[in-house]
Amino acid sequence: MFNDQNNKQPGPPPRPPMQGGRPSGLALIFFLVMAALFIAYFFRGNSTPIREIRYSDFSNYLEQNQIDSVTINDNNTLDIVLKGQSAQEPVRLRTRIPYQDPDLLSVLREKNVNISGAAARMNFWRMIIDLLPWIIGFAFIMYMFRSMPGGGNRAFQFGKSRAKRYHEEGKKVSFTDVAGQKDAKYELEEVVAFLKNPQKFTKMGARIPKGVLLVGLPGTGKTLMARSVAGEAGVAFFHMSGSDFVEMFVGVGASRVRDLFEQGRRSAPCIIFIDELDAVGRTRGAGYGGGHDEREQTLNQLLVEMDGFDSKDGVIILAATNRPDVLDPALLRPGRFDRQVVVAMPDIKEREAILQIHSAKIPMSKDIELSRIARATPGMSGADIANLVNEAALFAARKDKPEVQMHDFEEARDKILMGVARKTLVVSDKERRMTAIHEAGHALLHYFLKNADPLHKVTIVPHGRALGMALSLPEEDTYSRTRGWIEDRIAICYGGWLAEKLFYNETTTGTKQDIQQATEMARHMVCEWGMADEMGPVAYGQEEEPIFLGKEIARHQDYSEETARRIDNAVKKILDRARSEAERIIRKYRKGLEALADALLSRETLIDDEVREILHLPSATAGESF
Ligand code: ADP
Ligand code: MG
Ligand code: ZN
Repeated sequence: MFNDQNNKQPGPPPRPPMQGGRPSGLALIFFLVMAALFIAYFFRGNSTPIREIRYSDFSNYLEQNQIDSVTINDNNTLDIVLKGQSAQEPVRLRTRIPYQDPDLLSVLREKNVNISGAAARMNFWRMIIDLLPWIIGFAFIMYMFRSMPGGGNRAFQFGKSRAKRYHEEGKKVSFTDVAGQKDAKYELEEVVAFLKNPQKFTKMGARIPKGVLLVGLPGTGKTLMARSVAGEAGVAFFHMSGSDFVEMFVGVGASRVRDLFEQGRRSAPCIIFIDELDAVGRTRGAGYGGGHDEREQTLNQLLVEMDGFDSKDGVIILAATNRPDVLDPALLRPGRFDRQVVVAMPDIKEREAILQIHSAKIPMSKDIELSRIARATPGMSGADIANLVNEAALFAARKDKPEVQMHDFEEARDKILMGVARKTLVVSDKERRMTAIHEAGHALLHYFLKNADPLHKVTIVPHGRALGMALSLPEEDTYSRTRGWIEDRIAICYGGWLAEKLFYNETTTGTKQDIQQATEMARHMVCEWGMADEMGPVAYGQEEEPIFLGKEIARHQDYSEETARRIDNAVKKILDRARSEAERIIRKYRKGLEALADALLSRETLIDDEVREILHLPSATAGESF
């Protein structure tokens, strides 16, 4: 019914057989050896059937003088030949000696039984059992290799590129599948035109870019864009992720690069697409520990390959990254990825277009206005929106509805923004009331601070690890924030803490996140955004970014102790000012806050309009949301 396209690239067509389940060489050998062992067992030289009898029966035979001869095997068994029976009898009797019987020999002698010993014969099953740990170990290692991420038998095909080849047939993506992105499409049109008819360009002696780098935040549709270029031009598409090159063995990545370009050259015209280029392309010589050798080799090989061929061959290399800043400068030099195309976050119109594309695949109720959903999803990427549509379809399906309604979209968006509601979490009455006071404290401030975003909803239904939450939505797409907005944001953060203090004269651990957020914002204001008057517009402390963690974990302190103290003071001043403003409002509207908390206790969730009603404020028409 619904299509779970979200977040995934549309599935690749069935893999060509070469990539499928071909047993790897070692697995084959392993299989053959096992087969040989079994055959050896069934056709082993001595095939006289053996009948095993009980030791007590043997004792009886012995007692009754019926035994002619015995052969003592070294594994505590006796082969028995009865009197009147020749050793060539079709069935041999055998018994197992259950305990060390010191008298056995003397009894046998007494009864005149011929005794002989058997030559120690290599016991087949003994051998298997001895080898068993090794066989199991080997099988386990094989299994580990096969189930490694990326699957397949890659451990045994080290050098192969494993680039997935997307053929023109199968699922073809074109520019119409990418909503918005006018600028990016415009830039890539040239690549499409060239791939469609390389001669036209080469005749003119025009230099076609070899490499185009798609730059954009995660989920903006870079991968989709690259595939659509191939689809538009109708050429083969080789897709490989940067992390696929990085393998545990040195030299593997480099040979994969070689192999990928080899494949590309053979199938020109085509597109080679390296997704997540930053995984291989990070600045050389900046890794932690010694583990970056392999990556450097891979990168060097990539540079060599890019230099080594001409775009006249009809091969264009696309790459995607969300971190162009960490790429090795060598990658961006002319003749390599010298052209960058920005794949931007969608604005409101583009969000609507993306919604249109994805909702075309699911049955939608007539009451749905995509423009309203687009307005209520600022900051969401294309992938987020694809995900939203899918979640909405899931909600509708779960309720057995024939079509998706506006309400499903609302639920889906709240789930994406806040996490899944945990309606079953048991919260004590006291805790519930404290949560209501806390959230009412946040909510109230949205209405009495000048620069704050309008409240979207406030709830005391636990979401994820939070017991409650007050959610706001910006009125429009924003690309930067003013000082006033941030100060109000900090004040709102303190709303919960202040309300708890005012009503209970003590505070809970539930304020941790709020305090953290407030402090962080204040620090940014002072150190980065130049928003503290006494510190001036100066950047204090350079962010240091460890190459492999990809996350800010260290701040380089490039200022004196004296400055550090001044920074601390400035931060504290901002926090204090915001807090006292929040406190003033909360004290002034204490009654309203209490009314809000009571309403929350009985209704659990309040939306903007309901809050306005309780606070006797005019209903909002501007900040309409769904
Ligand atoms: P990126 O590679 O930039 O992280 P993807 O190309 O993987 O993003 O996008 C993930 C999914 O989001 C796509 O498969 C598609 O369903 C959806 N998507 C993103 N941007 C758009 C867009 N502009 N139009 C339509 N769908 C989009
Ligand atoms: Mg991608
Ligand atoms: Zn809070």
